[in-house]
Amino acid sequence: MNDCIFCKIIAGEIPSKKLYEDEQCLAFYDIEPLAPKHFLVIPKVHFASAAEVTPENSAVIAHIFEVIARLAAQEGLDGFRVVTNCGPIAGQTVPHIHFHVLSGRQLGSFN
Ligand code: AMP
Ligand code: ZN
Repeated sequence: MNDCIFCKIIAGEIPSKKLYEDEQCLAFYDIEPLAPKHFLVIPKVHFASAAEVTPENSAVIAHIFEVIARLAAQEGLDGFRVVTNCGPIAGQTVPHIHFHVLSGRQLGSFN
């Protein structure tokens, strides 16, 4: 998508601190980490959010969760949280679906 910051990261037009990449997804560190370990995992195909998951695109979501499990083990994460914000009211600021992986400190309850 032309104006999407995460599509630009995938295309290499904006630099990122890459953690993992394959043909379907990319994992990179969040530029404003909210925990000692905070990375994002995004599909290479553009769609906005969890509200747009369909039978046609859901396979990449399953793949991303496999990748998250692998990266958590690789990074030695002792527990982690996976978050996907959906829409501005939930705090989504980048409209390309992404999964935050947060770890390295005690995480509080939601509010
Ligand atoms: P959300 O608010 O759930 O849409 O999450 C978007 C996340 O993307 C925020 O945590 C931002 O800090 C992060 N972010 C925005 N731009 C970049 C970038 N260029 N590189 C890495 N992370 C970014
Ligand atoms: Zn995009």
